[in-house]
Amino acid sequence: MRLILLGAPGAGKGTQAVILAEKLKIPHISTGDIFRANIKEGTELGKKAKEFIDRGALVPDDITVGIVKDRLSKPDCKNGFLLDGFPRTIPQAEYLDDVLCKMNMSVDYAINIDVPDDVIIKRLSGRRVCPACGITYHIVNNPPQQGDVCDGCVTGVVQRDDDKEETIQKRLIAYHEQTEPLIDYYKNKGKLIVVDGTKEIEEITSEILKAIGVV
Ligand code: ADP
Ligand code: AMP
Repeated sequence: MRLILLGAPGAGKGTQAVILAEKLKIPHISTGDIFRANIKEGTELGKKAKEFIDRGALVPDDITVGIVKDRLSKPDCKNGFLLDGFPRTIPQAEYLDDVLCKMNMSVDYAINIDVPDDVIIKRLSGRRVCPACGITYHIVNNPPQQGDVCDGCVTGVVQRDDDKEETIQKRLIAYHEQTEPLIDYYKNKGKLIVVDGTKEIEEITSEILKAIGVV
């Protein structure tokens, strides 16, 4: 199964992607995670991406499509993949179609996790992540069991730099201007599934599995 998760920053793409990738036994590919790993390692790619991420802007397409093409050519993507946070612009979506077409493949479904802006702002400002293993929490909706340390590895959870108030607003503007048009792009191709992202995490997972024919 070749899946794309669409939705505003904070809609719950990463949360659902971890669960779905495990259930469907396909790799979870998050361009945001790839950029953050590069920033942590201090690579040239990381340095370039950081300039954009820190100000709530999208990383330019020419940088982003290259890393996705490399990742999709790895053997673990042969039987499917789950893209989280890519594509985020129409040119990225066209590029993805082209790359897959050359491999005799295509996207099966684009799943839009629909969440209104007021809920997004609460989600992003309350999001905490484990800097060691990457698990995502929310201080109210989905807190770590023991206060502010990760359930998995007991590392202290932190707030992402781009989840600070002023950057959140900029990311939302970028979403509406550059990413939201992808909803119609996939609708016109008959590949769009929409789920109500304000429901409970487990309920959303069930709806997605049902919609893609896996119960
Ligand atoms: P995205 O990957 O789309 O940016 P995340 O998966 O990181 O979003 O989720 C953003 C925040 O919202 C996190 O703090 C997460 O714990 C929380 N969250 C995710 N899904 C839900 C949900 N269905 N209900 C309430 N909170 C959620
Ligand atoms: P995410 O973890 O998906 O919220 O992504 C964090 C940040 O990485 C975004 O705000 C963008 O700056 C950048 N980013 C991630 N994926 C993409 C993409 N497909 N295109 C452009 N920028 C991206």
